[in-house]
Amino acid sequence: MVYGKLLKALEPRAYEEWFAKQLRGVLERRLAPTYERGYEYENYIESAVFDAFYGGKLKAGSEMGLDPTIKRKDLILIDGISDDFLEDMEEILRDLHVDPAPDIARYEKRIRPLAEMAVWTSYNEGKLEFLKERQERFVHLRVMPDACENCVDLEGTYPIENVPHPPFHINCRCELEYAGSPA
Ligand SMILES: [Zn+2]
Ligand SMILES: [Zn+2]
Repeated sequence: MVYGKLLKALEPRAYEEWFAKQLRGVLERRLAPTYERGYEYENYIESAVFDAFYGGKLKAGSEMGLDPTIKRKDLILIDGISDDFLEDMEEILRDLHVDPAPDIARYEKRIRPLAEMAVWTSYNEGKLEFLKERQERFVHLRVMPDACENCVDLEGTYPIENVPHPPFHINCRCELEYAGSPA
């Protein structure tokens, strides 16, 4: 089921597996850029972004003791996140010129942070979307203890329509959360 898959996508070991799949897709596409391969590769990314979004909704639901579902509107958001990621990826592929023996480490170094950003963006957007569905007025932006100064400055509770959307940079792990009932 999607739920389990997602929680694992955010858990380091299974994330590695997911990432290896992305990377394989990139390499396949680079070496044999056929329509079918390209399509298969896009599916890898879309499913990871979908899983992350749904996982975000489920996490927000569990914070509130509720059980969310995926709605039609969510699919549009998910498509947008996947498309942005694919565009960035295409740019990297255009940058790295044709190489008959592609240097995997080089691809990996540049693509990994983008893949992580796509998953983390989608996870947070899923949370936010669920809070909107529940007509929450406030949302809390939580920052990790080792966050950078800029992120620390952003921590706090915001009206839902004004909350900044994490991640704010590569390796940012800021997270949106149910704010409860602010006084
Ligand atoms: Zn930061
Ligand atoms: Zn951050």
